[in-house]
Amino acid sequence: MALTAMAIYKNLPRTNCGDCKFPTCMAFAMQVAAKQKPLTDCPHLSDAAKGEFSEASAPPMKLVRVGPAGAGGFDIGQETVMFRHEEKFHHQPAIAVRVAASLTDDQALARIEQISQAQFVRVGQQLGVKAAAVDVEGLAADKAAARVKALAAKSRVPLIVMTKDAATMAAAVGAIADKRPLIYQANAANAEAFIKIALEKKCPLAVSADTLEALADLAKAAKDKGVADLVLAFNGHPAARTIRDLTIVRRAALKKSFRALGFPSMVDVSLDDPCKETVIASTFAAKYAGIVIINGLDPTELLPILTTIQNVYTDPQVPNIVEPKLYAIGPVNENSPVLWTTNFSLTYFCVVGEIERSKVPCYISVVDSGGLGILNAYAGDKVSPEKVVKTLEAQKVADKVKHRKLINPGLLPSFRAEIEDSSPWKQVLIGPENASGIPGFLKANWK
Ligand code: SF4
Repeated sequence: MALTAMAIYKNLPRTNCGDCKFPTCMAFAMQVAAKQKPLTDCPHLSDAAKGEFSEASAPPMKLVRVGPAGAGGFDIGQETVMFRHEEKFHHQPAIAVRVAASLTDDQALARIEQISQAQFVRVGQQLGVKAAAVDVEGLAADKAAARVKALAAKSRVPLIVMTKDAATMAAAVGAIADKRPLIYQANAANAEAFIKIALEKKCPLAVSADTLEALADLAKAAKDKGVADLVLAFNGHPAARTIRDLTIVRRAALKKSFRALGFPSMVDVSLDDPCKETVIASTFAAKYAGIVIINGLDPTELLPILTTIQNVYTDPQVPNIVEPKLYAIGPVNENSPVLWTTNFSLTYFCVVGEIERSKVPCYISVVDSGGLGILNAYAGDKVSPEKVVKTLEAQKVADKVKHRKLINPGLLPSFRAEIEDSSPWKQVLIGPENASGIPGFLKANWK
């Protein structure tokens, strides 16, 4: 039965201390009743209250850890909304790259090295492959154990061990149990043995079935036997049916509090066509997979998927901003170019990336635009020539360089006259409209 806010409130300390990030205990109780926050966000809860309400107030979707505690693993699940704009999505999906069973040991080791190194920085954030999906199907148990042990020793990301054979799985997971690999995947035929392995080795378990009803039954059976960390596994093809199933599962968990499906999901996309794999993997990353397994390891495939995840998992209520101040990019000196831009982080990091690509050290004066990009900021009256001039003064930019040339964003050429008339910056150069033009612009215009 759903708990009311009042029933929850009565069991809170009622001190309104704010440690849960809500101003009052009642405000927090309302969030818990709405399943938007877990009861455990109140650090002052009595043991009695925890015991009484833990199941009823538990988040509708379990948080599942894959890999060891700390930096060596990742969390998925505990999502609270169907749509990002309702609040935000909480735990970014993990991209897992497959290591085929057909590879030689040397090839598998080389691939795990590539997987570990598949890391990128975009808009100031670290993105990358988070797991290696090691397929040991068809390998003898001792060979599978030796392989995962060697790969785990070299990998910087957690492993997903893939086989339907119970003896092979027991040997492989037993070899690396301390790394808490994800056991992939229990089905109607092997469930009993796989649940036993998950319990003995204290590892998360992926479960799959042909129908959602059977999946719910299997997940419930595993949970009733004591497996706490479950992941619902789906085949990514046909994609439309899988999207439908993922949506039904999410809705059942969040809207109907259907505990048997209250776990994060994962999808095996694995295709030989990199373009198709990119599109389908991006789709599932947005809606609603916690883990997406793919074959591709090329940056041209990974970056679109990771960029999709990064965009979908930003908090829509928090502007992506950088601190408005003067930034030195590279070993600047008194002759270095000075550019100005807004504090929308995507704009800023695009400019930084292109300056780094140009290999010309530059100053960037970042103007506070309320987190808006150039044109939106202009349309919303968040930037003006006067504000740019005041920012340059406040940041004491003129003390840093001996020239008085300022590179203005190409989208706002009308700023030039007013800046030149009202400031010491007497030579305003109109830069490119797009950040990608910065290297060419500097080469042609900065002597
Ligand atoms: S942390 Fe607990 S006691 Fe403090 S305001 Fe929140 S609910 Fe109330």
